[in-house]
Amino acid sequence: MDTTAQPSGTVATTAIVPSPNGAKPLEQHLVAESGQIMPLTMAGHLLPNPHDMLKMAQVGVRYNVTQWEQKWTMERATQGWDHCRPKSVYIAAIGSHWRERCWARVSDMLHYSNQNGLYAQLVEIQDRCDVPYDAMGVMRNEAILKAMNGWEFLCMIDTDVLPLPETLIRLLNRMESDGRSIIVPYVDEPGTQKVLHGPEQKKFSGVHPIRWAVLSFMLFRTSIFNAWPGGMFWDNPRGADEGYHFQKLYSLGHIPVVDTDIVVPTQSAPTYPLTVKYLSEADQKKFWDMKEAWRRAPPDRRPLSPGDPRQRDGMYLPFLKPPCPQCKKEMREIPLPDGVTFKCDACAQAAAQPSITVAGEVTASVPAIR
Ligand SMILES: [Zn+2]
Repeated sequence: MDTTAQPSGTVATTAIVPSPNGAKPLEQHLVAESGQIMPLTMAGHLLPNPHDMLKMAQVGVRYNVTQWEQKWTMERATQGWDHCRPKSVYIAAIGSHWRERCWARVSDMLHYSNQNGLYAQLVEIQDRCDVPYDAMGVMRNEAILKAMNGWEFLCMIDTDVLPLPETLIRLLNRMESDGRSIIVPYVDEPGTQKVLHGPEQKKFSGVHPIRWAVLSFMLFRTSIFNAWPGGMFWDNPRGADEGYHFQKLYSLGHIPVVDTDIVVPTQSAPTYPLTVKYLSEADQKKFWDMKEAWRRAPPDRRPLSPGDPRQRDGMYLPFLKPPCPQCKKEMREIPLPDGVTFKCDACAQAAAQPSITVAGEVTASVPAIR
């Protein structure tokens, strides 16, 4: 990604209307002696009439970190409001007890998001539970607190989800185009086939307002939590479930939506801690022992395919570029429809045989014939 600071404004080139108070038009002020155009945002050609001096009375100057940020800032100037990092997403995984393949799938989503204009970060929230589930509220509140440090969106996920690379971008785009503050995908639990939101909506039937949804994968506009200072939104007892928390949100006017066209399967069935007490004593013990054993197992952060070169110490990191087996230099990533491959340009060039181009000119790799 280009990390050069880019000015986000351009200056209209249409005829300039004289200022009523004799001042130089803004456009002229924005051109330096050298001819360089000054950084500008929230003004200029984005306004309906760039020469309306009343509307141009407030100018903001902004240096953007990437070309993407510049693009989002320009969009926001007409379709929303400014943010220090527009389309920034804090992806908080609740815990680090990844089910098989889930770390890799979430990492791929993170990587794809960053490659395609989002500014996203993935962080595992520390497991603060003494016994399973007893501090889930604290962990979710910590995710909110962290997201409140300047992230425009919070994507809260459980460690058993299998999103596609484009899942986050699609959800965010839907959220912004529909003007929503909470959106969830259609979470699909292949084992039990239980519908994990309510009222029930059919898969691939568009976007619907809902009362509640499973917490496996949720995207929030972080600012909705400003109503709960210190991120104190989630309650801890096991009984404080989805229904309770969605009522808290509803009381402030937030109606979540499910986008049934965006499907996220989960690797495991949801747990309903409140229902465990209806099991026999022996089964209760078995259940909690199983949960505890899972919690103590080391996190599974392996790649989808064992031979994937983008891993270090068994951890899949999709941004890694493996070294060339021959020259040990970093190879170039070539995206394919079903994955990626890597090529060493230096070694490939060295290995190339001398050749003649169709135009009859000798290529650079061929020694000149005298
Ligand atoms: Zn090489």
